[in-house]
Amino acid sequence: MPSSRPVFVVTGPSGAGKGTLIRELVERIPVLEVAVSATTRPQRPREVDGHEYWFLSGDEFERRVQAGEFLEHVAYVSGRRYGTLRSELARILAEGRVCVLELELEGALAVQHEVPASVSLFIAADVPELERRLRERATESTGEIGERIALAREQLEQAHLFRYMVRNDDVGRATAALAAIVECELELAGVGTGTMSRP
Ligand code: 5GP
Repeated sequence: MPSSRPVFVVTGPSGAGKGTLIRELVERIPVLEVAVSATTRPQRPREVDGHEYWFLSGDEFERRVQAGEFLEHVAYVSGRRYGTLRSELARILAEGRVCVLELELEGALAVQHEVPASVSLFIAADVPELERRLRERATESTGEIGERIALAREQLEQAHLFRYMVRNDDVGRATAALAAIVECELELAGVGTGTMSRP
């Protein structure tokens, strides 16, 4: 990475509430922008191509892998592929903003290894709470929820691999903790939290 601007990597098990916390965080700290990942998983109702994800066919995803367009990419539950496009990071940096990535663990570890300026944050939640959130969301088939819960149990044991850990037992408290960490890291890097308006 040519820039010393921090790249915030938010990781943790499916159902830990990463998406909600990131939305709250970006609302509070305007200089942050979330990179849009690419995926081969089916689009859910209300998801918009280019907003939540770039929804790609398996062939198109593979073509981009071969072209070296991904900073990292993984095969997740049910073999669905997810990846961070290098172009997204470049675009966000060129806009003078600070990038936030929402990644599962394997991808987060890869970025942590590859990007020296990365700051990793692990979002944890109790297993019954994770299960409740996944069932409430009910966007995956029952089998896939079971697979995500099994994976979540394993992943909770890997929190120590990341720089910070925030427990999401209460969204308000967790957002405040996350914002305090991010503000501190931005200050250390000499980056203002930014009051500029969003494009
Ligand atoms: P979902 O299908 O629920 O949107 O996402 C499943 C998991 O994939 C979540 O843990 C999410 O953080 C992760 N994820 C989303 N985009 C990427 C990506 O570009 N790379 C990696 N490694 N994981 C991602």
